[in-house]
Parts: sequence; structure tokens; C-alpha cells
Amino acid sequence: MSSLSDATKVHVAKCLSCPAQGNLGRRYECIVCGDSVTYCGDCYEQGKNAPSEKHKYYHPMKAIYNRDFFELYFLGEEMVNGEAPQSYKCAFCDELGFTAEELQLHVVEKHSGHGDAPKLLDILVQMNEQKKCEYAAGLTGGWQPASAPDSAASLLP
Ligand SMILES: [Zn+2]
Ligand SMILES: [Zn+2]
Ligand SMILES: [Zn+2]
Repeated sequence: MSSLSDATKVHVAKCLSCPAQGNLGRRYECIVCGDSVTYCGDCYEQGKNAPSEKHKYYHPMKAIYNRDFFELYFLGEEMVNGEAPQSYKCAFCDELGFTAEELQLHVVEKHSGHGDAPKLLDILVQMNEQKKCEYAAGLTGGWQPASAPDSAASLLP
């Protein structure tokens, strides 16, 4: 008999940097690349989130917690749509603790001159728009870029 109670989120996560895999208590997954770029909490904190040709250094990483870890870590807080409160890091100045909306504002205010800012803003705008849609529909799903990311570079001045 398979346990139907686990059907909500049976996901075998695998850390890119160390042998950790399975139902990791806490892991980080790239918003843009999806679960092909996943790090366990320890590796992420040690800065092992190595960029690659596809996975750019400014890609926001989403923290994912299993229920046990969440209850231990966020005593008394509620998951929103099955997700823990997110805290993003600014890839340009390493400031921590932004929501996706705050990070979008921060990048506009502080880093509008940065060469990669338009690409990050593109991602953040879509994250924030998708969040509104998810909120309305009560759904969660993978983020999909509206246009092919590889062609975005040629649009820059
Ligand atoms: Zn790891
Ligand atoms: Zn990525
Ligand atoms: Zn910054």
C-alpha cells in the first residue's frame, strides 16, 4: 500500500553539491531553473550555490521546508499556500531578508544601473505577478519565463 497522505508533496530532492538527498528538512531551489538546481540548507549557507551557464548568480533561490522542519523553525507561523515565508538575498549587494516585492523595489532603487538588473527585474516582476495569480487561484506551480531567457541579452542597450 502506498501512503496517500504523502501524496501532496512527494518530491525527492537532491543536493547538487553533496550527497544529501531525499526529504531534506530544508532545501533551496532556483526559481528560474527549477529543481534541477537544488541545494541542501547547509551547502547553500556555505555559498555552494555555484552559477552555471544556465543558472545565473542573480537567480533568486526559494527555500523549501518539510512540515517537521517548518514547525521547528517557524514556531507559530503559518504557511501561505503551502509555502514558508520567503527571504531572498540581493545578488548585487548581498543584503538579506527581502520578500520578492521588496527585492524588486530594492533593485529598482539601488541597482538600476547594474548590467544584470533588467534580467533580474524581469524574473521578479513575473514572480510577483504569478504570486498574485496563485493567490487568486489557490494554485502553485513552476515559474515559466514569458520569453526565452537566452534571447533577453540581445535586447539590452
Ligand atoms: Zn548539500
Ligand atoms: Zn537558476
Ligand atoms: Zn542590493
